[in-house]
Amino acid sequence: MITGASSGIGLATARKLAGMGVKLVLGARREDRLKQLAAEFDSGQVLYAKTDVTVREDVTKLVNLAQETFGRVDVMFNNAGLMPLSLLDELKVSEWEKMIDTNIKGVLYGIAAVLPIMINQKGGHVITTDSVAGHIVRPSTAVYAGTKYAIQAIMDGLRQEQVENHIRTTMISPGVVNTELYSTISGSDRREEMRKQEQGMGIQPEDVANAVAYAIDQPEAVGINEILLRPVAQQ
Ligand code: NDP
Repeated sequence: MITGASSGIGLATARKLAGMGVKLVLGARREDRLKQLAAEFDSGQVLYAKTDVTVREDVTKLVNLAQETFGRVDVMFNNAGLMPLSLLDELKVSEWEKMIDTNIKGVLYGIAAVLPIMINQKGGHVITTDSVAGHIVRPSTAVYAGTKYAIQAIMDGLRQEQVENHIRTTMISPGVVNTELYSTISGSDRREEMRKQEQGMGIQPEDVANAVAYAIDQPEAVGINEILLRPVAQQ
Protein backbone atom coordinates (compact mmCIF):
# COMPACT_ATOMS: atom_id res chain seq x y z
CA MET A 1 0.00 0.00 0.00
CA ILE A 2 1.30 3.44 -0.85
CA THR A 3 -0.25 6.80 0.01
CA GLY A 4 0.76 9.87 -1.98
CA ALA A 5 1.32 7.68 -5.04
CA SER A 6 0.20 10.25 -7.60
CA SER A 7 3.57 12.03 -7.86
CA GLY A 8 7.16 12.24 -6.69
CA ILE A 9 8.49 9.65 -4.26
CA GLY A 10 5.21 7.68 -4.00
CA LEU A 11 4.84 7.41 -7.76
CA ALA A 12 8.48 6.39 -8.29
CA THR A 13 8.17 3.78 -5.54
CA ALA A 14 4.96 2.40 -7.03
CA ARG A 15 6.68 2.04 -10.43
CA LYS A 16 9.75 0.43 -8.88
CA LEU A 17 7.79 -2.09 -6.80
CA ALA A 18 5.26 -2.90 -9.52
CA GLY A 19 8.19 -3.51 -11.87
CA MET A 20 9.45 -6.07 -9.32
CA GLY A 21 6.06 -7.84 -9.51
CA VAL A 22 4.68 -6.54 -6.22
CA LYS A 23 0.89 -6.21 -5.95
CA LEU A 24 -0.05 -2.66 -5.00
CA VAL A 25 -2.92 -0.58 -3.70
CA LEU A 26 -2.35 3.13 -4.25
CA GLY A 27 -4.01 6.17 -2.70
CA ALA A 28 -3.98 9.91 -3.40
CA ARG A 29 -6.51 12.65 -4.12
CA ARG A 30 -5.70 12.90 -7.86
CA GLU A 31 -7.37 9.71 -8.99
CA ASP A 32 -6.69 10.35 -12.71
CA ARG A 33 -2.96 10.05 -12.08
CA LEU A 34 -3.38 6.80 -10.17
CA LYS A 35 -5.49 5.43 -13.02
CA GLN A 36 -2.75 6.29 -15.54
CA LEU A 37 -0.12 4.62 -13.39
CA ALA A 38 -2.19 1.46 -12.88
CA ALA A 39 -2.67 1.21 -16.66
CA GLU A 40 1.10 0.74 -17.10
CA PHE A 41 0.89 -2.68 -15.43
CA ASP A 42 -1.03 -5.96 -15.80
CA SER A 43 -4.69 -5.69 -14.98
CA GLY A 44 -5.33 -6.49 -11.31
CA GLN A 45 -1.73 -5.95 -10.18
CA VAL A 46 -2.11 -2.27 -9.26
CA LEU A 47 -5.34 -1.15 -7.63
CA TYR A 48 -6.08 2.38 -6.54
CA ALA A 49 -8.68 4.50 -4.79
CA LYS A 50 -9.15 8.24 -4.43
CA THR A 51 -7.90 8.86 -0.91
CA ASP A 52 -7.54 11.93 1.25
CA VAL A 53 -5.29 10.89 4.13
CA THR A 54 -6.75 13.61 6.34
CA VAL A 55 -10.05 11.69 6.24
CA ARG A 56 -9.76 8.60 8.42
CA GLU A 57 -12.53 6.67 6.61
CA ASP A 58 -10.69 7.11 3.28
CA VAL A 59 -7.52 5.57 4.68
CA THR A 60 -9.43 2.74 6.32
CA LYS A 61 -11.24 2.00 3.05
CA LEU A 62 -7.95 1.93 1.15
CA VAL A 63 -6.43 -0.56 3.59
CA ASN A 64 -9.61 -2.67 3.49
CA LEU A 65 -9.42 -2.75 -0.31
CA ALA A 66 -5.95 -4.28 -0.06
CA GLN A 67 -6.96 -6.74 2.65
CA GLU A 68 -10.13 -7.84 0.83
CA THR A 69 -8.43 -8.19 -2.55
CA PHE A 70 -5.13 -9.77 -1.60
CA GLY A 71 -5.98 -11.33 1.78
CA ARG A 72 -3.18 -9.54 3.65
CA VAL A 73 -1.18 -6.32 3.83
CA ASP A 74 2.57 -6.88 3.90
CA VAL A 75 3.77 -3.28 3.64
CA MET A 76 2.09 0.05 4.36
CA PHE A 77 4.03 3.03 2.98
CA ASN A 78 2.68 6.22 4.58
CA ASN A 79 4.19 8.70 2.20
CA ALA A 80 1.64 11.48 1.50
CA GLY A 81 2.85 14.85 2.72
CA LEU A 82 2.86 18.61 2.26
CA MET A 83 5.54 21.23 2.87
CA PRO A 84 4.13 24.78 2.82
CA LEU A 85 7.15 26.42 4.47
CA SER A 86 6.83 29.82 6.14
CA LEU A 87 8.23 31.77 9.07
CA LEU A 88 6.18 31.43 12.24
CA ASP A 89 5.52 35.19 12.40
CA GLU A 90 3.75 35.00 9.04
CA LEU A 91 1.00 33.24 11.06
CA LYS A 92 -0.07 30.90 8.26
CA VAL A 93 -2.09 28.95 10.79
CA SER A 94 -4.28 27.12 8.26
CA GLU A 95 -1.11 25.83 6.54
CA TRP A 96 0.21 24.64 9.92
CA GLU A 97 -3.06 22.79 10.41
CA LYS A 98 -2.88 21.20 6.95
CA MET A 99 0.65 19.95 7.63
CA ILE A 100 -0.36 18.50 10.99
CA ASP A 101 -3.46 16.88 9.45
CA THR A 102 -1.57 15.37 6.50
CA ASN A 103 1.94 14.68 7.77
CA ILE A 104 1.03 13.47 11.28
CA LYS A 105 -2.66 12.55 11.46
CA GLY A 106 -2.59 11.02 7.96
CA VAL A 107 0.24 8.72 9.05
CA LEU A 108 -1.56 7.83 12.29
CA TYR A 109 -4.71 6.95 10.32
CA GLY A 110 -2.58 4.64 8.17
CA ILE A 111 -1.13 2.98 11.25
CA ALA A 112 -4.60 2.68 12.85
CA ALA A 113 -5.99 1.01 9.74
CA VAL A 114 -3.19 -1.45 9.19
CA LEU A 115 -2.06 -2.34 12.71
CA PRO A 116 -4.92 -4.75 13.60
CA ILE A 117 -4.34 -6.55 10.27
CA MET A 118 -0.59 -6.85 10.83
CA ILE A 119 -1.04 -7.97 14.45
CA ASN A 120 -3.44 -10.64 13.23
CA GLN A 121 -0.98 -11.71 10.51
CA LYS A 122 1.84 -11.70 13.08
CA GLY A 123 3.92 -9.61 10.73
CA GLY A 124 4.14 -6.66 8.40
CA HIS A 125 6.17 -3.60 7.59
CA VAL A 126 5.20 0.03 8.20
CA ILE A 127 7.26 2.55 6.24
CA THR A 128 6.82 6.31 6.59
CA THR A 129 8.46 9.10 4.65
CA ASP A 130 10.20 11.25 7.19
CA SER A 131 12.87 13.79 6.18
CA VAL A 132 16.21 15.34 7.00
CA ALA A 133 13.77 17.89 8.50
CA GLY A 134 13.02 15.22 11.12
CA HIS A 135 16.56 15.84 12.38
CA ILE A 136 17.33 19.50 11.68
CA VAL A 137 15.25 22.69 11.99
CA ARG A 138 15.94 25.80 9.94
CA PRO A 139 14.14 29.15 9.74
CA SER A 140 10.81 28.59 7.87
CA THR A 141 10.74 24.84 8.57
CA ALA A 142 9.55 24.93 12.20
CA VAL A 143 6.11 23.40 11.67
CA TYR A 144 7.10 21.10 8.80
CA ALA A 145 10.09 19.87 10.81
CA GLY A 146 7.78 19.54 13.83
CA THR A 147 5.60 17.12 11.86
CA LYS A 148 8.64 15.13 10.77
CA TYR A 149 10.13 15.07 14.32
CA ALA A 150 6.76 13.71 15.45
CA ILE A 151 7.11 10.88 12.95
CA GLN A 152 10.41 9.91 14.58
CA ALA A 153 8.61 9.46 17.91
CA ILE A 154 5.59 7.68 16.46
CA MET A 155 7.60 5.26 14.36
CA ASP A 156 10.05 4.39 17.12
CA GLY A 157 7.17 3.90 19.55
CA LEU A 158 5.52 1.60 17.03
CA ARG A 159 8.75 -0.36 16.60
CA GLN A 160 9.22 -0.86 20.34
CA GLU A 161 5.61 -1.84 20.96
CA GLN A 162 5.39 -4.32 18.09
CA VAL A 163 8.59 -6.36 18.38
CA GLU A 164 6.64 -9.44 19.47
CA ASN A 165 4.32 -9.21 16.48
CA HIS A 166 7.27 -9.04 14.05
CA ILE A 167 6.18 -5.70 12.62
CA ARG A 168 9.10 -3.94 10.99
CA THR A 169 9.30 -0.15 10.84
CA THR A 170 11.29 2.06 8.49
CA MET A 171 11.59 5.81 8.18
CA ILE A 172 12.79 7.02 4.81
CA SER A 173 14.42 10.40 5.45
CA PRO A 174 15.46 12.21 2.30
CA GLY A 175 17.12 15.55 1.83
CA VAL A 176 16.26 17.56 -1.27
CA VAL A 177 14.42 15.48 -3.89
CA ASN A 178 13.16 16.84 -7.24
CA THR A 179 9.39 16.50 -6.87
CA GLU A 180 6.26 18.63 -6.86
CA LEU A 181 6.57 19.17 -3.09
CA TYR A 182 7.93 22.69 -3.46
CA SER A 183 4.74 23.78 -5.25
CA THR A 184 2.95 23.48 -1.88
CA ILE A 185 4.86 26.56 -0.62
CA SER A 186 2.44 29.48 -0.84
CA GLY A 187 5.00 32.31 -0.51
CA SER A 188 6.33 32.94 -4.03
CA ASP A 189 9.77 34.21 -2.93
CA ARG A 190 10.40 31.21 -0.73
CA ARG A 191 9.00 28.85 -3.39
CA GLU A 192 11.42 30.25 -5.99
CA GLU A 193 14.30 30.11 -3.56
CA MET A 194 13.57 26.45 -2.80
CA ARG A 195 13.02 25.63 -6.47
CA LYS A 196 16.45 27.02 -7.37
CA GLN A 197 18.01 25.01 -4.57
CA GLU A 198 16.20 21.90 -5.75
CA GLN A 199 17.23 22.33 -9.39
CA GLY A 200 20.80 22.85 -8.30
CA MET A 201 21.21 19.71 -6.25
CA GLY A 202 18.13 17.54 -5.73
CA ILE A 203 18.29 13.78 -6.09
CA GLN A 204 15.57 11.98 -8.05
CA PRO A 205 12.45 10.32 -6.60
CA GLU A 206 13.73 7.06 -8.13
CA ASP A 207 16.75 7.28 -5.81
CA VAL A 208 14.38 7.30 -2.84
CA ALA A 209 12.31 4.47 -4.34
CA ASN A 210 15.49 2.36 -4.40
CA ALA A 211 15.90 2.97 -0.66
CA VAL A 212 12.32 1.86 -0.01
CA ALA A 213 12.82 -1.31 -2.06
CA TYR A 214 16.06 -2.03 -0.16
CA ALA A 215 14.29 -1.76 3.21
CA ILE A 216 11.52 -4.10 2.08
CA ASP A 217 13.82 -6.60 0.43
CA GLN A 218 15.64 -7.64 3.63
CA PRO A 219 15.39 -10.96 5.45
CA GLU A 220 12.34 -11.00 7.77
CA ALA A 221 14.56 -10.72 10.85
CA VAL A 222 16.24 -7.51 9.66
CA GLY A 223 14.61 -4.17 10.40
CA ILE A 224 16.01 -1.17 8.58
CA ASN A 225 14.67 1.46 10.96
CA GLU A 226 15.77 4.55 9.09
CA ILE A 227 17.46 5.44 5.84
CA LEU A 228 18.72 9.02 5.68
CA LEU A 229 19.79 9.99 2.18
CA ARG A 230 20.90 13.42 1.01
CA PRO A 231 22.22 14.76 -2.25
CA VAL A 232 25.99 14.76 -1.88
CA ALA A 233 25.86 18.52 -2.60
CA GLN A 234 23.47 19.24 0.30
CA GLN A 235 24.97 20.70 3.49
P1 NDP B 1 4.98 15.40 -4.14
O1 NDP B 1 4.31 16.71 -3.93
O2 NDP B 1 5.48 15.06 -5.48
O3 NDP B 1 4.05 14.23 -3.64
C1 NDP B 1 3.21 14.36 -2.51
C2 NDP B 1 2.16 13.28 -2.59
O4 NDP B 1 1.35 13.38 -1.42
C3 NDP B 1 1.26 13.42 -3.79
O5 NDP B 1 1.04 12.13 -4.35
C4 NDP B 1 -0.02 13.96 -3.20
O6 NDP B 1 -1.14 13.45 -3.93
C5 NDP B 1 0.00 13.34 -1.83
N1 NDP B 1 -0.86 14.03 -0.88
C6 NDP B 1 -0.73 15.29 -0.38
N2 NDP B 1 -1.76 15.56 0.45
C7 NDP B 1 -2.55 14.46 0.46
C8 NDP B 1 -3.75 14.10 1.10
N3 NDP B 1 -4.40 14.95 1.93
N4 NDP B 1 -4.28 12.89 0.88
C9 NDP B 1 -3.66 12.00 0.07
N5 NDP B 1 -2.52 12.27 -0.58
C10 NDP B 1 -1.98 13.49 -0.38
O7 NDP B 1 6.17 15.39 -3.08
P2 NDP B 1 7.19 14.25 -2.57
O8 NDP B 1 7.10 13.03 -3.39
O9 NDP B 1 8.48 14.93 -2.42
O10 NDP B 1 6.60 14.01 -1.11
C11 NDP B 1 6.39 12.74 -0.58
C12 NDP B 1 6.87 12.74 0.86
O11 NDP B 1 8.26 12.97 0.89
C13 NDP B 1 6.25 13.79 1.78
O12 NDP B 1 5.89 13.18 3.00
C14 NDP B 1 7.37 14.77 1.99
O13 NDP B 1 7.26 15.45 3.20
C15 NDP B 1 8.56 13.85 1.93
N6 NDP B 1 9.86 14.47 1.66
C16 NDP B 1 10.12 15.07 0.46
C17 NDP B 1 11.33 15.69 0.23
C18 NDP B 1 11.62 16.43 -1.03
O14 NDP B 1 12.66 17.14 -1.09
N7 NDP B 1 10.82 16.32 -2.07
C19 NDP B 1 12.40 15.64 1.23
C20 NDP B 1 12.05 14.94 2.43
C21 NDP B 1 10.83 14.39 2.62
P3 NDP B 1 -2.49 14.24 -4.29
O15 NDP B 1 -2.14 15.70 -4.39
O16 NDP B 1 -2.91 13.62 -5.57
O17 NDP B 1 -3.40 13.92 -3.16
